[in-house]
Amino acid sequence: MIVNLVRTSDPRAVTRELVALGLWVTPLEGGSQPQLRVEEGSRELPIGDILAVSGVESVARPRSAHPRVDAHPPTVRVRSLELGTGAPPVLIAGPCSVESEASAHALAHRVAAAGAKILRGGAYKPRTSPYSFQGHGGQALEWLRAAADSHGLAVVTEVLDPEDAARVAEHADLLQIGSRSMQSSPLLRAAGATGKPVLLKRGMAATVEEWLLAAEHCLVAGAAAVIFCERGVRGFDPSTRNLLDLGAVALLAGVRRLPVIVDPSHAVGRRDLVAPLARAALAAGAAGVMLETHDSPGDALSDGPQALTPAELTELAASLLGARA
Ligand code: PEP
Ligand code: MN
Repeated sequence: MIVNLVRTSDPRAVTRELVALGLWVTPLEGGSQPQLRVEEGSRELPIGDILAVSGVESVARPRSAHPRVDAHPPTVRVRSLELGTGAPPVLIAGPCSVESEASAHALAHRVAAAGAKILRGGAYKPRTSPYSFQGHGGQALEWLRAAADSHGLAVVTEVLDPEDAARVAEHADLLQIGSRSMQSSPLLRAAGATGKPVLLKRGMAATVEEWLLAAEHCLVAGAAAVIFCERGVRGFDPSTRNLLDLGAVALLAGVRRLPVIVDPSHAVGRRDLVAPLARAALAAGAAGVMLETHDSPGDALSDGPQALTPAELTELAASLLGARA
């Protein structure tokens, strides 16, 4: 935001007043009129408060690159479920990959009993290595849907290829875009064009602005809503799988008023640290958490080390839901 000052004003005096209002301002050099720039990260204030400062002539707000995201509501619906600011925290749980019909049903039962409302599970898996398990595809979509339906759960699953978007949308209530795909604009558009809400994971090296622009692609294409999912960014330290950026969560939830959830499983990569990060996520303003869960993590076809057992999920869910109740 640019603040244009009256020519005869004292820019230092105006700066002092704006700083006192909670704005972070820097003078803009040159130009025929004194100007100040209000930096990103300043307190959100009604324009009228800035115009009321003596010496301020006008305020210019450059057009945002993501107007649909800016106008996005803080709370959205996934089927009959409310997710976002003010709504109770939503738990999403399930396996990394949908491995079989029987395990999908067994896990759906445990996930629902723990208090989760959305069943997750990958049918099309984005794997870093071509030699890793790539998912059971269309068959897994059917297993997941049937398992969720028998336990009153909604379904979220990843769409990996624009060609599969319509098929995934037939089975899922929420379409996940994975971290590796966040900047694939054809995929973002295909997911949006289904008209379903999209769960948009943050790219592992994406800035918040790039994340917002990816959401804009989905919304322009027709997505009913976008729920942002922070899943950790690439850090410098391999002690944990990724680096959970809770500052970005607080920014999206508290400043931009957008629905954002956290996936502590992929962020930290080890089951013993999932619980503290899940608690921290809700404290930072996340509207929910997504927790990988497996009935026998040691046998999982993908991401076993970070999967909670159903018993661990039940305990964590009780503490998360109880803490907010
Ligand atoms: C997942 O949720 O299954 C997944 C692959 O996560 P990410 O895209 O965050 O790596
Ligand atoms: Mn996984």
